[in-house]
Amino acid sequence: MRLAVGAFLFEGNTFSPVVTRRADFEAKYCFAGEAVLSRLAGTGTEIAGAVAEAARRKAELVPLIATHGGAGGRVARDCHDEFVADLLARLAAALPVDGIYLALHGAFVAEGIDDVEGELLAQVRRIAGAVPVVVSCDMHAHVTPAMLAHCDALIGYCHYPHDDTFETGERALAILADTVAGRLKPAMRACRAPLLAPAQRQRTRGDGPMAEIRSRAAAREQGIIRAVSHFCVQPWMDLPGMGFTSVVVAHDDAAAASRVAREIAGMAWDARNRFVVETVAPRAGVRAGLASPGFVVLADAADCVGGGASGDSVAVLPALLAEAPDAPAALHIVDAPAAAAAHRAGVGARLRLGLGNKLDPSYGAPVDVEAAVVSISDGRFVYAGGLMKGVAAEMGPSAVLRVGAVDVLVGSRSAYEYGDEAFRANGIDPRARKFVVVKNPMNYQQAYAGAAAMIILDTPGPTTPNLAGLPWRRADRPLFPLDVEFTPAFVDFPM
Ligand SMILES: [Zn+2]
Repeated sequence: MRLAVGAFLFEGNTFSPVVTRRADFEAKYCFAGEAVLSRLAGTGTEIAGAVAEAARRKAELVPLIATHGGAGGRVARDCHDEFVADLLARLAAALPVDGIYLALHGAFVAEGIDDVEGELLAQVRRIAGAVPVVVSCDMHAHVTPAMLAHCDALIGYCHYPHDDTFETGERALAILADTVAGRLKPAMRACRAPLLAPAQRQRTRGDGPMAEIRSRAAAREQGIIRAVSHFCVQPWMDLPGMGFTSVVVAHDDAAAASRVAREIAGMAWDARNRFVVETVAPRAGVRAGLASPGFVVLADAADCVGGGASGDSVAVLPALLAEAPDAPAALHIVDAPAAAAAHRAGVGARLRLGLGNKLDPSYGAPVDVEAAVVSISDGRFVYAGGLMKGVAAEMGPSAVLRVGAVDVLVGSRSAYEYGDEAFRANGIDPRARKFVVVKNPMNYQQAYAGAAAMIILDTPGPTTPNLAGLPWRRADRPLFPLDVEFTPAFVDFPM
């Protein structure tokens, strides 16, 4: 059995005006041909899972390309076109193959293309004909009718935080191999409920609405029901057809797939109010934190680079300086010019500078500060735990600037906060402070477990949990929580 495999992932955020470029893909991973297998085997990626499953089934893999661009504003059109042309040329050269597995994100947007995955899969079909195509997506995929029309089976990560990417690759490859062998005749149906959910309440383990949905989905995966996926959707995309989508793959029984898809989408709709998070104005949040004895997490989730923001917001700094001038605090921002100024001035120097809000000025202005250079570094660190354990990251030239009682870690490039590694690599132990400002919706809940308080702030930015506060124009309405009182129209597809 000869199976073509590739990966082309990116999570788009249409509320971020920052264009994503090829260097952003190369900064994560970007391989072509044999390097796809040799460089990714043994990692936690979907491709690695596919390699492991293919070995068990003695299937030969034909690698195309594999790359991940992280998250951000729309991908530059030339960058998108180059990757797609490369992938399709390699696929054409690999034919004939018995099947194709593509690891995609599902929320990829490029300049001028709202549904990158749907268009890519249509071209794959055009080149490869009726060969079985199986796709895996992130749990935050924006699943469209075009995506489902041009593949045989589509599954998603089961978990958030996403710690099952490897297993997703194994499952996808198994579905593909079973389809090629004729043991599985995939019948796929989807159902979309008109709701968007902030990420803070989407944990799939423990308790909470997504944990309940995941456990129902797992319970339904038996007999002819091969895969039950639940896509919460990346909520910061102003596109038609947004919502929570369930996709079910059944063996030769579309009606059964449709029934389960409707059941899962119905659960999400019924749980809609449980996803909503309360946010607090920054100054009120700092005051509430001061009243809490011990270490306090202030979540500026609106500036989450893992969701497509630029990571350069300083929205919380003035609140800390005004409300808690003596409380030690730690904050992490991206500001390459400030980092360069600190490197030029050297440790111990004092600087006057405008800090932050340079990459994406639409959500705020730089804050003028006087800062002491506490330390400088090359910005390299290694993730210590979780799904990125052992992976090296680098923020480029970095510095710690002390502004009042706040230590501001300034990187030249963004690096997602899976834990506190970036702070620690620069001599900051956040737990030894009164406050740490985090910029993610989920990881901090584990990284700083046991904190006296975790306060979600109402800050400006393209990854705000306050979804109704964004300037929506294109999304189909009504859509919860932008609209509240309405009778939901569930959309079944493809029909
Ligand atoms: Zn995701």
